[in-house]
Amino acid sequence: MKLSNLTFKGGIHPPYSKELSKKASIEPCIVPEVVVIPLSQHIGAPCDPIVKIGEAVKVGQKIGESKSFVSAPVHSSVSGVVKKIEEIDSPLGNKTKAVVIESDGKNEVSEEVKPKGNLEDLSPEEIVEIVKEAGITGQGGASFPTHVKLSPPPDKKIDTVILNGAECEPYLTADHRLMVEESESIVYGLKAIMKAVGVKKGYIGIEDNKPDAIEAMMKASANEPEIEIVSLETKYPQGDEKRLIDAATKRQVPAGGLPMDVGVIVNNVGTADAIAKAIKTGMPLVERVVTITGDAVVTPKNLMVKIGTSFKEVVEQCGGYKEGLGKIVMGGPMMGNAQFTDNVPVVKGTSGILLLSEKEVSAPPMDPCMRCGRCVYACPVNLQPTALEKLTSRERFDETEKYHIWSCIECGTCSYVCPARRPLVHSIRVAKKALSDKQKRESK
Ligand code: SF4
Ligand code: SF4
Repeated sequence: MKLSNLTFKGGIHPPYSKELSKKASIEPCIVPEVVVIPLSQHIGAPCDPIVKIGEAVKVGQKIGESKSFVSAPVHSSVSGVVKKIEEIDSPLGNKTKAVVIESDGKNEVSEEVKPKGNLEDLSPEEIVEIVKEAGITGQGGASFPTHVKLSPPPDKKIDTVILNGAECEPYLTADHRLMVEESESIVYGLKAIMKAVGVKKGYIGIEDNKPDAIEAMMKASANEPEIEIVSLETKYPQGDEKRLIDAATKRQVPAGGLPMDVGVIVNNVGTADAIAKAIKTGMPLVERVVTITGDAVVTPKNLMVKIGTSFKEVVEQCGGYKEGLGKIVMGGPMMGNAQFTDNVPVVKGTSGILLLSEKEVSAPPMDPCMRCGRCVYACPVNLQPTALEKLTSRERFDETEKYHIWSCIECGTCSYVCPARRPLVHSIRVAKKALSDKQKRESK
C-alpha cells in the first residue's frame, strides 16, 4: 500500500456528514409487493421487454434486452407475475418504459441462475459475456454498461485497472460498508476484471476517512501481489475517475479523452462485487446497496434493495420521514438528481436516497458575480465556470465550447464555493443540453 496521501489540484472539503450512516451495517430491505423495473437504467440504448403481461417470472430472469452493444439487459428482482408494461417517471429525470411485477412473496430463483465456474478456468471473453448477460452497469452513479468498458478497441493498450472506493460524495456510505463487509468479493471481482482485459496491475483507491475499509481491503488482498491499496486524501471530487487516475498513476487523461487513452480502466467497488456474484452464483444485478440518509429520515441505514422498489417503501423501512422534509435526492448532494416524488423506483445507479431538511436546502437569493475567482481556483478541471455561466445566460452556447465546456464533470464544486450563490453547474448543464440538442437537429 502506498502510504502517501495522493490527491489532485483544486477541489473542496465540504462537510462529509457520513457519520449518520457509516456504522450502519448492510441490512436486507423488505421484498416489496410490487417492483417497477425501468427498461432504461443506464447510458446507452433502452431495452425492449421480452416478457408479456400475465407471464410468471422468477428472480434473476431476464425481462428486457437490446440488440445494441452499448446497453445492458434487465432482470426481475422478485418472483411473481407481470402486471403492466407502462411509461413511468425515472429517478434519472426522464420518462421510460418499465415492467411492473407483482411479487408472490416466494422469491423463487430462475433456473437460468447458475454458478459460472472457477475464475481460473474462464477465458477473458467468457468473463465479458457473463458481465454482459448479468446486466452489470457502473455502480458509482453513471451507470455505463460494464461489458463495454471491458471491451476496449484493439488500438488501446490497457495496463492498469483501478477500483474506485473513494466515495467522495458527502453523506454516502454504501461503498464504505461494502468494502468493510464484502472485501473478499471485491478483490475477486477486481481479479476478474484484470483477467478480462489482460492486465497485471490493479489498484483500489480509498479516501483516508475510511480507515476500516482500507484495513479490510488490505487484509483481503494480502496474498495478491498484483493488487495495491492506495490511500487518497479526503477531498471532493476525488472519486471522479480522471482525478483518481491522476492521483494513483500520475497519468493525465487528455481533455475530451477517456481513461483508456492512458491505458486505464476504472470501475466502482460495487461493480466488482456485482461481477464476483455474477460469476460465483450466476445471479445478475437485481439488487444493490443503497444509503438512506440525511437529516429528514428517522433512522439512516444501508440497505440491500431490490431493483424496482419504490423510494417510498425504502424510506418507510428506515422509520419514514421526519417533519420538515426539504428535498429528496438520488445520490449525493453534489452530483445527485433531485426528485419531485418518492414514487420512483430504485435503479442500478441508485447509490443513495438523501433526505434533506428544509433548513439544509434553504438558501438566500443569489447576488451578482463579484469576480472573486474562487470558482476558477477550485475547479479540478481548470475551467472558468463564471465565464461559462455568463455565456449561457446570454444564450451564446456555441462560444462555451471555446471554454471547454465538454470537459466539465458537473461535480458542483464551483457552485459550492461561490459566495454569490450563482447557479454555475446548472448553467453548464443547460448549455450542454442546448449544444447536444443542436447537434441532434443538425445530424438529422
Ligand atoms: S466547472 Fe464543472 S468541473 Fe469545474 S467545478 Fe464547476 S462543475 Fe466541477
Ligand atoms: S465564485 Fe461566484 S462570485 Fe466568485 S467569480 Fe465565481 S461566479 Fe463570480
